[in-house]
Amino acid sequence: MPLLADVAVPVPLSQAFTYEVPAALAGEVRPGARVLCEFHRRKLLGVVLAVSERSAAIDPSKIKPLAALVDARPALPAELLSFLQELAAYYFAPIGEVLRLALPAIEREQVRALKAQGELGGVLDLGRAKQVGGRKVAYASATDAVEEPGTLRGQAAAVLALLRANGEQPVARLEERYGNARSALKKLAERGLVALDEREPPRDPFFRLPEERDVPPELNPAQAEAAARIDAALAALSTPGRAAPSAPGGAEARGAAPREPRPAGPSAFLLFGVTGSGKTEVYLRAIKSCLDRGRGALVMVPEIALTPQLVARFRARFGDELAVLHSGLSDADRHAMWASLHGGKVRVAIGARSALFAPVPDLGLILVDEEHDGSFKQEEGVRYHARDMALLRAHRAGAVCVLGSATPSIESVALVRRGKLVELRLPERAHREASLPEVTLVDLRRFGAGPSGDPLISLPLHRALERTLAAKEQAILFLNRRGFAPSVVCGSCGNLTTCSACSVALTYHRGRRRDARPQAPAGAPAPGPAAPLDERPQGGLLRCHYCDYAGPLPERCGSCGSRTLLLEGLGTERLEATIAASFPEARVARLDRDVAGKDRSQAILARMREGKIDILVGTQMVTKGHDLPNVTLVGVVNADAALGLPDFRAAERGFQLLVQVAGRAGRRDRPGRVLIQTRNPEHPAIAFAAAHDVPGFLDREIRDREEVGYPPATRLALIRIDAVDEGVGRGAAARLAAHARTCPDGLARRVEVLGPSAAPIARLRGRYRFRVLLRARERGPLRGTLAALTGLMRDGIDRNARVIIDVDPVAML
Ligand code: ADP
Ligand code: ZN
Ligand code: ZN
Repeated sequence: MPLLADVAVPVPLSQAFTYEVPAALAGEVRPGARVLCEFHRRKLLGVVLAVSERSAAIDPSKIKPLAALVDARPALPAELLSFLQELAAYYFAPIGEVLRLALPAIEREQVRALKAQGELGGVLDLGRAKQVGGRKVAYASATDAVEEPGTLRGQAAAVLALLRANGEQPVARLEERYGNARSALKKLAERGLVALDEREPPRDPFFRLPEERDVPPELNPAQAEAAARIDAALAALSTPGRAAPSAPGGAEARGAAPREPRPAGPSAFLLFGVTGSGKTEVYLRAIKSCLDRGRGALVMVPEIALTPQLVARFRARFGDELAVLHSGLSDADRHAMWASLHGGKVRVAIGARSALFAPVPDLGLILVDEEHDGSFKQEEGVRYHARDMALLRAHRAGAVCVLGSATPSIESVALVRRGKLVELRLPERAHREASLPEVTLVDLRRFGAGPSGDPLISLPLHRALERTLAAKEQAILFLNRRGFAPSVVCGSCGNLTTCSACSVALTYHRGRRRDARPQAPAGAPAPGPAAPLDERPQGGLLRCHYCDYAGPLPERCGSCGSRTLLLEGLGTERLEATIAASFPEARVARLDRDVAGKDRSQAILARMREGKIDILVGTQMVTKGHDLPNVTLVGVVNADAALGLPDFRAAERGFQLLVQVAGRAGRRDRPGRVLIQTRNPEHPAIAFAAAHDVPGFLDREIRDREEVGYPPATRLALIRIDAVDEGVGRGAAARLAAHARTCPDGLARRVEVLGPSAAPIARLRGRYRFRVLLRARERGPLRGTLAALTGLMRDGIDRNARVIIDVDPVAML
């Protein structure tokens, strides 16, 4: 019988393809290894899922041999490979695309070997798998030698000029600009004009400074209890290193998960600790106890929480036994991190969503910090939820999983109630003197504008800011809208200026200026809520927050031609300017996506910590995780903004935001104060947040969801359809909905089919968007219906319509 391999290739199909393992490669081709294989006369990079000796299910003459083996040692360990297969099945995602999420770059060594075998002719996809050169990077620099005039031409001359102008450059960067950079450099080096050097690239900025080891603080009783429970769960895990090496034909070779015996006790936890309660310290103890037992740990945090401050705390405890995975890494650094985990040199990984796929050796623990955070859901490509998948991966690997939050997601709380997660509580702040801040609601219907003239800076907020400044303390003002003015409206006909590619309002951005203060003479009235166009500052752009559109403010209304365009509403830019004008003695800064590249946001937070900023204005970026001891006032400028969205999670998200931002106040000895401005003080999200009553909100929200039939009471899948042509999109949506209604589970009403309907944002980037929502009490019927729809999607839908299945959807707009 032939030795056959099931190979996943990067095409949008769910199944694997069968290839024959040539005799020369028998015993070397193992699950998780990448191979080159011919697919429709192109050569593709695939991943071996399983190898076995068996008779082929299809005509043997149609089975092609594998062209080459790329990885001598499987790039994906068995544990990770089987997890990825389960993830693909759960989300109805093509296996080839799922595997890509976890695959490392290809090392240049491997490319060279393949070239030597003559295997790289006609390869289609190798270029998309990024290539990196192990840990060494080649650099080129100009020497002091001078060429004879007129002897250099073309790219050689250009490369040399560039090196002389800019100093040393990585060769890879030169290759991006000049196709023949390599041969040009060779020529230049031969003539002594250029020096080439291979060396380790600079380490990730997180590792530039050595971190001093810290002394672990003594845990308070609640922390000690939580740490002990997690430790007991880790102790109950089976010993590591038992993932047997795969033999062809063995159970593992067929892609089955290496099943470890389930630990006896609970192995998944929800660490529910108020803001500042010391959850991180519990994580650190859990990791230590995991490492002491010879197993590796994975820590996932929201991208925004991956700050030097947090990483420093981990490094202070674990030194260099830590791989930090983040979006700012160069390919080479990312690969170095990957390789040190894969090789077992480093056993702890910390990173954002995509760290879910890190090849942590002998995985014993997965921690998900701020598990409620929306950024754990990937909203493009494979739409997975990293928190849900963390639970799955841990379960399959026989590892412990800990989800932590001050504002747990409704889903996680429901898991606690169903007995799938064990709740651990940290009810108090860790610093003995710190207490939760006092929260005051400011009813905007009763309070008018303060001295600034802007109705969103009420008198109570103004006075509170004055008091904070007088006490030499710091304030944070949170406003969930970027830009200067969220909408531009015609003063004559009321027409709203919208994006031409999306059905959303354009935001006016005034842009960066050296001096944030308006150039008004002292004592002049500050700009009102809706400044007429003639008073607007010169320059600035209209921007779409959904596509890349940016353009000048029009001179006239696009509808009636009137010149009275009004800038309406308050964004962070305008808030910053208004605050700066009202408090001329204060140092005011802004933190949002517009001012903040990675480094800049760190610089702003550092200045805040050093006390060089008095009032920090910003979006969500100010709400997360920062431990700023001198902040005693937090103002929520407009709590209603997030609550009105057509999304069943709007209340939950608004609540989380309020509690998190309030948690920035009074983290040390000075008591904190929070002002929440709202027109809707009775809204449960606001009322419970004001009372610091997280369990109360969760109770009520779970009951509400049960009543209206939304998760966690039910399960959802969203079929997203979009097309350039409105009719094509609508037609495809109608077909899908009809098909769902007529498949067995639809007919039996085990699956409810809602729609087709236009999406709340009906048009985005020039495409019309429709949706069909599937809802069921049980997962089985929902999966049955989705399976039926994937069949239709393959052959029965207009090719001009794009259809995406989103299981457990998060973004509802
Ligand atoms: P959380 O992650 O729950 O918001 P942190 O872990 O950031 O809270 O802890 C808040 C502060 O309390 C930090 O400054 C931390 O160093 C400190 N802390 C945590 N645990 C203890 C402890 N047992 N004793 C003293 N300080 C602690
Ligand atoms: Zn008009
Ligand atoms: Zn747009």
